[in-house]
Amino acid sequence: MKVVTIAGARPQFIKAAAVSRVLRQEKGVHEILLHTGQHFDANMSKIFFDELGISNPDYNLGISCLQHGAMTGRMLERIENILIKEKPDWVLVFGDTNSTIAGALGAAKLHLKVAHVESGMRSFNRNSPEEINRVICDRISDLLLCSTTTAVKNLYNEGFARFACDIIQTGDVMYDAALYYSEKASRASRIMRQIPFKEFVLCTLHRQENTGDISILKRLILSLKKIHQKIPIVLPVHPGTRSRIQSLDLKLPFHIIDPVGYFDMLTLVKNCSLILTDSGGLQKEAFFFSKFCITLRDETEWVELVKLGVNKVTGSNQEKILSAFEFFMNKEFKSKARPYGNGDASEKIVAAMLRYS
Ligand code: UDP
Repeated sequence: MKVVTIAGARPQFIKAAAVSRVLRQEKGVHEILLHTGQHFDANMSKIFFDELGISNPDYNLGISCLQHGAMTGRMLERIENILIKEKPDWVLVFGDTNSTIAGALGAAKLHLKVAHVESGMRSFNRNSPEEINRVICDRISDLLLCSTTTAVKNLYNEGFARFACDIIQTGDVMYDAALYYSEKASRASRIMRQIPFKEFVLCTLHRQENTGDISILKRLILSLKKIHQKIPIVLPVHPGTRSRIQSLDLKLPFHIIDPVGYFDMLTLVKNCSLILTDSGGLQKEAFFFSKFCITLRDETEWVELVKLGVNKVTGSNQEKILSAFEFFMNKEFKSKARPYGNGDASEKIVAAMLRYS
């Protein structure tokens, strides 16, 4: 079985690492890794390959820093040529980025089978570029690999039972990764030497809906400043957010650090008191390591966390952010639920690909 795995953005390297590790243990499986180049800084890309032991990409397209249409279009053109040459049995894509949709579209038009990891996730916000990528990618995929029960329900609600595809609930590959790398991360990471606080709140911000709108960005920063007066905020800043903040000449009092690798991030998650984020992956990692999370978006795909009472979705509303902060800071994390499977999602994904190939 020949598989072309397509990844290009930070969270996809983590997801690809989890599946690739299992894929490459199978006899008779040949995986080709295609890096689109969407994320290219050493601390957004190379560090993940080094830490997670991902093999060097067979192809690196070096396509980044373009508007959505241009980026997706250029990726599509290059991916199509590679797929024509490689003729894989499967094209494996992850999540909801431009690399995901370019990979899935390139494959589907060549009648190659597409396996989509994190299928069925929905925020139901069509203004978000990720939501459009999710919906289209699911519709043209053959194997829809779902992290959660909600994801499966979303697909059935959209009529996917009538389509020529297979829907499988596998659990979440980021849970696999967190379990697999947790101890390794604790041993290897030196990040806590750079954090001069015993207690801190961990924050990340990178979504276009937050950083692209100046009034939302300023509102968020104001709320974060209020929290920072009570407990220091550590903010590993995404390159896009950094340049936005610089161009607007915004002054931030937080403990700002460069983006960190996965091992450092897991260590920060384990050591923090609370997480505030607009990241999808970080919401789940908060849960994996028994931390409450305030989601700085108007909606989340990871709704089970909200139902469990461990995640509050506040958007940029200051009142909601501060009341969620007070609520969680005085609470003990007790949930023992396991909505993301048993840490064997990657095994289930590979088994399904072998079964349907
Ligand atoms: N992450 C990291 N270093 C950072 C920030 C995030 O390793 O400085 C990890 C984080 O732990 C999670 C993933 O990157 O596993 C999430 O990526 P991101 O927030 O960029 O994307 P999203 O999950 O929102 O698609």
